Amino acid sequence: MNKKAKSLDLHGIGCSPGIYIGKAYVVKKTNYNLPRYWINNKEITSETERFLSALEKASEEIEKIQEKLCKFEGREQINILDTYHLILQDKRLRENTIKSIKEEHINAEWALYKNAEKIKNHLIQHGMSHLKERANEFSDIQERILCHLLGKNKASFTNLPKNCIVIAHDLSPAETAQLIKYNIGGMIIEVGGTTSHTAIISRALGIPCIVACHQASSTLLSGETIIIDGTHGKVITDPSEMLIEEFTKQQHHDFELKKIFLKETHLSAETKDHHRIHLTANMELIEEIQSIKENGAEGIGLYRSEFLFMNQKKLPTENELFKSYQMILKSIYPYTVTIRTLDIGGDKVLTTYPYEKETNPALGLRAIRFCLKEKAIFKIQLRAMLRASLYGKLKILFPLICELEEIRRAKEILNEVKEELYREDNHFDNNVKIGVMIEVPSSVMIANELAQEVDFFSIGTNDLIQYSLAVDRSNENVDYLYRPLHPAILRMLVQTLDAAKKHHISINVCGEMASDPLYILFLVGMGFQELSMNALSIPRAKRMIRSITQKQAKKLFQTAIKLTTASEINNFAKSQINKLFAKEPYILTL
Ligand code: PEP
Ligand code: MG
Repeated sequence: MNKKAKSLDLHGIGCSPGIYIGKAYVVKKTNYNLPRYWINNKEITSETERFLSALEKASEEIEKIQEKLCKFEGREQINILDTYHLILQDKRLRENTIKSIKEEHINAEWALYKNAEKIKNHLIQHGMSHLKERANEFSDIQERILCHLLGKNKASFTNLPKNCIVIAHDLSPAETAQLIKYNIGGMIIEVGGTTSHTAIISRALGIPCIVACHQASSTLLSGETIIIDGTHGKVITDPSEMLIEEFTKQQHHDFELKKIFLKETHLSAETKDHHRIHLTANMELIEEIQSIKENGAEGIGLYRSEFLFMNQKKLPTENELFKSYQMILKSIYPYTVTIRTLDIGGDKVLTTYPYEKETNPALGLRAIRFCLKEKAIFKIQLRAMLRASLYGKLKILFPLICELEEIRRAKEILNEVKEELYREDNHFDNNVKIGVMIEVPSSVMIANELAQEVDFFSIGTNDLIQYSLAVDRSNENVDYLYRPLHPAILRMLVQTLDAAKKHHISINVCGEMASDPLYILFLVGMGFQELSMNALSIPRAKRMIRSITQKQAKKLFQTAIKLTTASEINNFAKSQINKLFAKEPYILTL
């Protein structure tokens, strides 16, 4: 029987390239703040029923998975399911939990937790043969039951084993940022698009990732061995020895190629006819600094500063922010660091801020709108930035500017802050350059006016595409409509570039488009001289730029801009890149 055909493979959208072979870990959406409360005599029956019902639902879930797997004869999965059944049939868990509810008068979640932990520790300490190795599966069951009890929506990483492949229905950017602590090998998410912030972080950290992989968390089981191929958006379950060998070879091959690219990071990104392109890095987490340096970035073109505000119990203080900014500026010196002011809202929420629920957060109180409303928070951030400006080279960038009044108001507040610092005898660099992000069609249309207010533009193509083509960047159902080479987008890029040139201000592209090997040369041909991207993409971008003349790139772009549909331009781009890099076909997928 052909094992490969029989295995239960899953597909999604590959959004961070690379291969990883490891154990799956299914993140259940439970709440780590386990509710613990006392119950009275009258509540014992309803609490017991609640527990039994959750237990039954978890069993049904496992049954369903088993039914599916039976069709595919996945040996390893069936073994794991046997363990799951043993755990679910284990009378101790059921009876002891009910006993705790009755005798200790505690709620079902608390009782379950107490008894599950007790049994798990007993298994680990006293080595109950096959169950001893299965603490992960036990935790998974425990979380499945808890999940039914709570019906809550928060990922729990409490039992996350090192080097596992994380599987989740959805992960917020804040949750994804937390995962860095756990050294994970891969990520499989059931929802999301390629420019969602979760996808962006996985790329920045070099973790293979697949989004829009439907039913992954209900189909895969914690503990089973899987292969994730983030380049092609494929998950292989129950892989044969032969497949493991094949993918391991590919993994080594990719690794060797990257090593070759890395050897060239000291070379500049200069076309064959000596046009110099500046490649800077996008940064989300401070942990990326080392990689930014190693990959040859010439500064930080976009620091998404909101990540310092996430996963915190309280808003950071001015001094805490100052220390972080100071450290970043010092580490990156003599290069420049562009700090974008808080771009919160949309898919990036602060747990420390009491938001009103919005019907359409992408069009709601996000980015500069939030800061202009919450002036006190904004001022704290600006004060910290200005104070840190003495320790390196700083630029300040304002996100999601849609009209002139917004940038004028932001500048007024910046001046207020400067005056306050003067009065307090706090020193700062008074010549810090300020810029706006061009990421909505209205800012493109008023680019000439905006250019007269600031020192530089930074084009955020992720949002520019989202807002121009009316495509939610985090929604996998419309991912096929998310097209950076749509003629409308190319024309907007040209229009913005022209306005910047006319008013002699600098301009860069910092959206994901700038790192994509399919688009880089078109941006160079269009006339952009600075691109900001995730650090790991820089060595490849350098290699691509060094292997072409500016004249060639210009010609490519001039042909593309005459085409009228996104598909035509895309096909043209693919054929040209394939032709140019016929000897290095991996350039598009690495
Ligand atoms: C963008 O919109 O292109 C951008 C760089 O900002 P973010 O991805 O953080 O929204
Ligand atoms: Mg944006």
